[in-house]
Parts: sequence; structure tokens; C-alpha cells
Amino acid sequence: MQIQFDNAFLRELPGDPESGPRIREVEAAAWSRVDPAPVSAPHLLAWSPEAAALVGLDAADVAAPDFARVFGGNAQLPGMQPWAGNYGGHQFGSWAGQLGDGRAISLGEALGAQGARWELQLKGAGRTPYSRFADGRAVLRSSVREFLCSEAMHHLGVPTTRALSLVGTGEGVVRDMFYDGHPRPEPGAIVCRMAPTFLRFGSWQLPAARGDVALLRRLTDYTQRYHFPELAGQGEAGDAEWFAQVCERTAWMVAGWMRVGFVHGVMNTDNMSILGLTIDYGPYGWVEDYDPDWTPNTTDAQGRRYRFGTQPQVAYWNLTRLAQSLAPLFKEVAPLEAGLARFGRAWDLAHRDLVARKLGLAHCRDEDLRLFAELQQLLQEGQVDMTLFFRALGEHEAAGADRAPFAEAFYDADARAGIEASLLGWLKRHRARQLDDPLDAEQRRETMRLANPRYVLRNWLAQEAIDRAEQGDSAGITELLDVMRRPYEEQPGRGHYAGARPEWARHRAGCSMLSCSS
Ligand code: AMP
Ligand code: MG
Repeated sequence: MQIQFDNAFLRELPGDPESGPRIREVEAAAWSRVDPAPVSAPHLLAWSPEAAALVGLDAADVAAPDFARVFGGNAQLPGMQPWAGNYGGHQFGSWAGQLGDGRAISLGEALGAQGARWELQLKGAGRTPYSRFADGRAVLRSSVREFLCSEAMHHLGVPTTRALSLVGTGEGVVRDMFYDGHPRPEPGAIVCRMAPTFLRFGSWQLPAARGDVALLRRLTDYTQRYHFPELAGQGEAGDAEWFAQVCERTAWMVAGWMRVGFVHGVMNTDNMSILGLTIDYGPYGWVEDYDPDWTPNTTDAQGRRYRFGTQPQVAYWNLTRLAQSLAPLFKEVAPLEAGLARFGRAWDLAHRDLVARKLGLAHCRDEDLRLFAELQQLLQEGQVDMTLFFRALGEHEAAGADRAPFAEAFYDADARAGIEASLLGWLKRHRARQLDDPLDAEQRRETMRLANPRYVLRNWLAQEAIDRAEQGDSAGITELLDVMRRPYEEQPGRGHYAGARPEWARHRAGCSMLSCSS
């Protein structure tokens, strides 16, 4: 196994003079050198062929015995220089100070095809200076969820970090899953995730909070040079355009979430990628019976700050925190305000794009926004499964008057009866609107097929794979990954993966609600 590394992040940005995991405040530095802590029995549980190809690895590399040792943290390849990143963040609206990678250790920046850079990062590889009171490890269940969802989101076409591998550690990790005073050991695992960079809004917030303008400047220059090269070296105008593009990317990312029914669950500013990638898969979830107020995160059950329907507003709030942190780099605030305004415009475009595509229209007119909002209201009142409903909407034209494609989208007969008449009325208006649109029936069907997935990573599907993996059978992870590689295609014989939430999953932990324990 050979990977070419070029660790520009370490080379170009100031680091912590001390290495090793001693817990500390780290000033004036973007990183601390720290090695993964070896585990007793690293073994490969799953891997992603598409992610491996990005860094030039194939099935033979992955099958070799050193693969699990390297991606379990027991060995290093030439060129690796492991580090933990330093950053702060607002957690649930409050400034939390220094956070940093408490259990993520980056191994190096792999060079892929056409000069692409992929930072390879182990999650759960042991303590770092940023571990605070915790153990630096991750349990199998949360690692399976991060591994699968990273790849599922990529195949859905939503910007995201990627996942290369899932390695079991052979060690127990003690967690109090329900935070009810009953800690127990669970199997441990390590995901290797990949992104061009894992810098987040919090990476800027921390130096800004400390008045460290020099580090703010260097982070910004580094990011532009390596990740927004067309904007590098253009002074304040370049900085302004860069921030505006971060705003736009963030808007399109969240629109991707809204299109497929994804709820991130912990949109703290330390979990917001500067590249507009979905990052840090924790207590996320997928909307089933449609509800804009739903959050899967039990830790957020009271305030519901991070519920499905408010994700665009939260993204905007997070961007305003980033703008405040960048203020020392600007003579006036106007360019930052202009950047934030670009979020609004990008969101409007992205939202219209998703409305048009989900409804099978060439363009979204103002009246279509109302049509879509009325549908959302009906789906909520009728407790209708979001994914099943939209898929059926794209298919029922071909089925003629037959409403059978919708049947499985309902969870509750009374709720269904309550909206039946209004829904029929809505379908009639939708039909009339489609006929007043340039797309023909075939184009319409294809547009809707590619906007409305058949398969999403419903929490209970992940949980089934986790239950099996905890019994020592990782085949369920591989099969589920394979399903999620083609979410818009019909996959005969895989109806189970496209089904509505079964009754057993309604209240089971890990299926409807999740804690942050991971
Ligand atoms: P998260 O909510 O997962 O984004 O984590 C917030 C902060 O807590 C980050 O600084 C993490 O690195 C840190 N953290 C979470 N779990 C652990 C753990 N088991 N060990 C060390 N640090 C952790
Ligand atoms: Mg995080």
C-alpha cells in the first residue's frame, strides 16, 4: 500500500511546540502533533471502494494485513505526520472556548488524482491535547453510522466528508448511552474519514476570541491558497469573495439536506465545514413521518434548536458568528454583510431548485413555492413518510388514476383520512401545473426520480446493521453501503431498504431518537 502525502497544513500553519496528548490550552497554533494510540486487535469491518479510489487504493491494498493496522492507528505509512486540529465553537448557542479534535487524529494529506488533496483522519484513535475529560475513543454503533452516512450522502449528491474505512479495535469502550447512570462497555471502532480539509467555522472563531489576528490571517491565506486558489492573493476583495462563497456553499449544502430529509442534529459552529461539506455525523436522522419540528437528538429535545425545518436559519446564524470572527481582517463590515446577503440569495435559488425538481417542474414560479408549502402542511398533518411520498409522486402519473404508489407512505389511518380530500385536491392542482410546464412526461419522471431518492439511510436500517455487527457479523454494513451507492435507482429484491419505518423502530433507541453518547 502506497499513498503520497503532502502535509501542507502542518507546513504552512503554526503548530503547538509541545507534542503528545497532555491536556492543555493551545495558543497561537492550528494543530498539535499527537500519534494515534494503538489498539489490541484492529480488524477491517467495512470500506468504501469509491473513497479508496480517490487516494489510489484498490481491493488488494485493502485486503493486505497492514491496512487495518494503519487505519486502526497501530502503524503509520511513510509520509504520515499525525496531528489534532485546534478550534473552538458555539455549542447550542453558547461560546464554548477551545474544543479541538478530542478524538480525531489526522494522519496526513494524501494526494489523489489531478492534484486533489484528501486529509485522512481517524475518528476514535485515542487521546489528544483536546480530549478534555473524555477517552478519545468511539463506539461501534456511532462509527457505523458515520461511515455509512458519509458515503450515503455522497451518493445522494449532497456535499459531504467521505469515509474510507471502518476498523474494529477489539477493545471495549465504556459509555452511558442513555445518560441514566448505567455505563457499560461497548465494542470500539475507528472510522477513517476524508475531506480536502477538516477546517471549520470554529477554527477561525478560536483565534478571533483570543485576539490572535496573525493566526486568523494565516488560516485565511492558507485556506484560499489550497482550497479556493482562484481567490488567493487578492487582498480584501478576495477575502470578501471567499466569505461570500463559504456562505453560498453552506446554503447549497443545507438545501441538499432539506431535499433528502436529513437532520444533522448538532449544528454547532465546530461542526460547520469551511468548505460547505456535511461534517460530523453524530445524532443525525432522516425525516420519516413529515415534521419540520423533529430532531433526532435527545440532548436537544427541550430547545429543539437543531430541528429539521430550522436548519437554514441555524446555518445563517452560524455564518454570522463566522463573520464576526473575520471582522478583524476587514476595514469595514460592509463586505461581510454583503457575504451574508449572498447566503440569502443562494438559499432562495437552492430552495427554488429543490421545489422544482421535487415537483417535476422545469422552473419554480412564485406560485410553486406556495404549492410546495401547502404540500408540506398536508404531509405533516397526515403523518406521511417524506421519502416514500415524493418517490410515489414521481411515479403516479405513469400509474394513471391508481393511487397505489402512495399507500405505503401513510403511518396512521386516521391521519390519512384527515387529509385525504385535501391531498386529492392538491394532486389535481399539481397535475394541472405540470401540464403548464415545458417538461414532457418522460423528462418530468426523470427529474423527479433524480431528486427524490428511493433509498435513504433511515436510522432503523443503520440500527439493523449495527445489531448484526455487534454480534460479530459485519455483512449488514457492506450490504447497506451497497444499497446506498445507488439511492435513485430501483434495486429489485431490496424492498426492505425502501420501506416505511417498522413499528418496532418507533421508540427504539438509535432509531427514533439518539443521544450524543458516542
Ligand atoms: P461533537 O459534538 O462530537 O462534535 O464533539 C464536540 C467536542 O467534544 C469535540 O471537541 C470533540 O473532539 C470532543 N469529543 C467528543 N467525544 C469525545 C471523546 N470520546 N473523547 C475526546 N473528545 C471527545
Ligand atoms: Mg465535532
